Parts: sequence; C-alpha cells; structure tokens
Amino acid sequence: MPNVKILCLEVGGSANRITDIPAMDNLVVNSPFNRNYINAPQPGIGAVWKYRVIPEHRGKGIGGTSQINSMVYNRGNRLDYDHWAREYGAVGSDYASVLPYFKRWENNTDKDIVAANQGFHGTQGLVQVSIWTEPDPIIKIYHETIQGMGHRVTDINGPVQVGTAIVQAFITGTGRRFSVSNAYIDPNKHTNNLVVLADVLVVRVLFTGRTATGFEYIRKGVRHVVSARREVIVSAGAINTPQLLMQSGVGPARHLLELSIPVKQYLQNHVQTDIYGFIKDDRLSKCSRQLDASALTTDNQYQYFTNPGKDWPNISVEPRLRLAPTEASQMAQTYERVAEWADYYRNYTGRHYLQMMLMLQRVRSRGSLYLSSADLYDYPVYSSQLLTERRDFDNFVDVVSWALYLADCWRLAQYIEPVQPVPGCHQCPKANTCTSVTII
Ligand SMILES: Cc1cc2nc3c(=O)[nH]c(=O)nc-3n(C[C@H](O)[C@H](O)[C@H](O)COP(=O)(O)OP(=O)(O)OC[C@H]3O[C@@H](n4cnc5c(N)ncnc54)[C@H](O)[C@@H]3O)c2cc1C
Repeated sequence: MPNVKILCLEVGGSANRITDIPAMDNLVVNSPFNRNYINAPQPGIGAVWKYRVIPEHRGKGIGGTSQINSMVYNRGNRLDYDHWAREYGAVGSDYASVLPYFKRWENNTDKDIVAANQGFHGTQGLVQVSIWTEPDPIIKIYHETIQGMGHRVTDINGPVQVGTAIVQAFITGTGRRFSVSNAYIDPNKHTNNLVVLADVLVVRVLFTGRTATGFEYIRKGVRHVVSARREVIVSAGAINTPQLLMQSGVGPARHLLELSIPVKQYLQNHVQTDIYGFIKDDRLSKCSRQLDASALTTDNQYQYFTNPGKDWPNISVEPRLRLAPTEASQMAQTYERVAEWADYYRNYTGRHYLQMMLMLQRVRSRGSLYLSSADLYDYPVYSSQLLTERRDFDNFVDVVSWALYLADCWRLAQYIEPVQPVPGCHQCPKANTCTSVTII
C-alpha cells in the first residue's frame, strides 16, 4: 500500500543468516531469538523438565515466531475454520471466506500440487512455498510406511486434507527460510511507507474513548508516545497480545485493579511431544518383536482421533531428520535429572535420528494468562493446563502409543533403533510389563 505510512515496533532485533537457514531451526529455537516462555508448573505433567516447567517457545525479532518455527505450510483443517465461525460467531472466518486470502499471499512453486488441486493454491503472492525436492531417504521410508498402513497421499492444504504428504514449507526455491519479514519487509518496494523500529518495548496501547489511537513504547530507557492517523494493529503474538492489552486496561476489570489476581480465561494451546528413533547403520535387520496389530486399522485410527468425521483429525505427526549435538551434557541441560539424561544421551551424540513430532490439533483443555505484576518487563504467567481434559490425555497417550508401534514394527523399524525408556520411565507402573501396543 504505497499511500499508507506504517510504523512497525518490535522488541527484538533483526534476523540473521543463521535464522535464514532452514536446517538450523533446532539451533535458532534455542537462541536469543526465542523469548523462552514457560508454562506454569502443573501437577501430573512435565516431570521430565527442571522444576516441572514445560518450555513455551515464542519468537522475538523482526519476523517474530516465523524466524524460529518449523516452516511447515499447513493452513489447518477447513472444518476448524467453519467451527469457529459457526460456534463462536467469528464471522468471515469460515474456510470459504479465508481461502481467497490464503491464495492471495501464496506463491506455490510446486506445479504438480497446484495443477492437481485447482482452486486451492495461489502462485502470484509474496510468500514462497516449496516442497522438499530431495527429502532425506528416511523421510521417504517414513512416508512409504504410512502409505503401507493404508493412508492415502494427499495435499494437506487441498480439498482432501487427511492423509500423508511430503510437506510443503515456507522455504524459497534457493533454500532460504521464508519468514514474514523475508516475505514482506526485506523486499518492500515502497521504502518511504515503512519505518521499522527494533529493540523497542511497546508498553501500552493508548485510547481515545474506546478507540485505539496510539502507542507508548520504551527505547533505550526513554519513553515515547506515537499517535496513529489511521489505525493501530496489535500483533504481538498469542502471549504478548493479551499481556499488552491488559497492561493497557483492556481486560477483566477486577484483575486489572488488583494487578495480580488470576482470572478465568479461555486459553488453548497445542500439546506436542517427540518420539525419537536413531538411524541404524545396518538397514536390513528384521523387526524382532511381534506386536498385536489386530486392533489397528486405518479406519479405526481415523475414527478414534477424529471428531466427528474422518476429515477432521485431532492429531498430526511430522517427521524430521535431525543430527544430535556432540555434547551429551548439552542435550541434558533442560531436564530435571541432568546426570541421568547425560548418560542416556551419551550413546547418541553426533548421530542422526528420526524425530516424529506428535501434536494434538484440537485441544479441549483450557488454560489462562495473567499479569504477574505491574512491571512492564515482567513475563506474564502462562498456564496452558495441558492435558487436563481426560479426552486430550487419552488421545495423547494413544498417539504416542501409535508412534511407538509404528517405530517398532512397521517397515520403518528396519531403519531405526527401538526407542529406549527415558530416565524416570520406571515411575510408570506398567514400565516392566508393557510389551504390546494397541489402539482403539
Ligand atoms: C517452535 C514453533 C514451531 C512452529 N512451527 C510452525 C510451522 O511449522 N508452521 C506454521 O505455520 N506455524 C508454526 N508455528 C506457529 C507460528 O510460527 C505462529 O503461529 C506465528 O508465527 C504467530 O504469528 P504472530 O504474528 O501472531 O506472532 P509472533 O510471530 O510471535 O510475533 C509477535 C512479535 O511481537 C513482538 N512483541 C511481543 N510483545 C511486544 C512488545 N510489547 N513490544 C514490541 N514487540 C513485541 C515479538 O517479539 C514478536 O516478534 C510454530 C511455532 C513455534 C513456537
């Protein structure tokens, strides 16, 4: 928009060449580009982490979390959009209404995907999306294994969203991360219309009556006020947007008066865990364990994990090939039993492993976010209350069981080592007897 003047305020600095390298995503997630929030400790989960606090990653810097995220191009399930519009009155958020916007910003470089899913992709937008041209062999094996279980190959952003795919990613054809800033700020043609101020903390949204008309921010210890002629957009992310609004007096009145009083809220967060399998040297060995697979079929997996139909799954599984760091103690740092974890990891340092990221998409558990004090620099108290709903818990245990089963028995098992029990696993009453996995 050449006729509009925009001031963009960001508490972090600019990205660098490391954040631009897709294979460095594990490194940048553990760098100052992450604000490193934590979940308030919660009984029942998080025992593996120091002080029971589960990390909550959020990007800091121009481009925000898109500088540290996993770059997977997954719009989300169309039925979720329809559900938000229908159940919560989010007018204009149904899938048919948002699809034109997805297409407008997308520049999909995969001709086959675009041709096979007419009407679902854009090719002229500013955000480049590409498919892995040469996925690691283990990813291909994973993909084939899933197909062997009866799952169809699909385009997860196309008309049929359930199935398996070599994912598309926010990566350019030349292999560079396509963060929001790489897409919209670096190549801005209208240089006079955009001013970006980095390393500034916005501390308040200013109002005239009920209309937001400006910001107060701190730069190098000095407070500044800026007024907007046209509009104020708060896009500080899922944690800092409510924090900033509460600091500005928008939110539950009693809490704001008393400053640190917890307030019931409606916060939802994905819950995710990883299953690892170290890649074997000998790729021809056979699966030695016989597991009871009788209950496991493609259909009953869908039925169990979907709600209410097959096209609306509650889980996603994303495989990645990773390289473990060379220092075992470095890998163990964030855990409660540091020494035991360092021992555990000693066998694995410097080796390649397959990481399966398991995630619940539609969580039922609800959490909250409070201001911890009136100090503008203090982190808010973030409490996802992960897995507090029984159905979430059951789904999560089952998807983990499913992944262990997949890693143990199907074709994939020839190429990866069985997952070893982690330190603390003996706490599980079934640890010594658990030899088979079933899904129902
Ligand atoms: C580890 C991880 C992996 C992910 N992987 C994927 C993926 O593969 N695919 C996908 O689609 N999504 C992924 N996501 C989610 C996705 O990255 C986020 O949903 C998205 O980036 C959120 O965008 P946003 O603009 O709402 O907030 P953000 O990107 O978080 O941007 C908010 C910005 O505001 C700044 N800010 C906050 N408070 C202030 C303040 N008071 N003053 C000034 N600046 C402030 C922050 O520093 C930040 O730069 C992932 C997220 C994480 C954490």
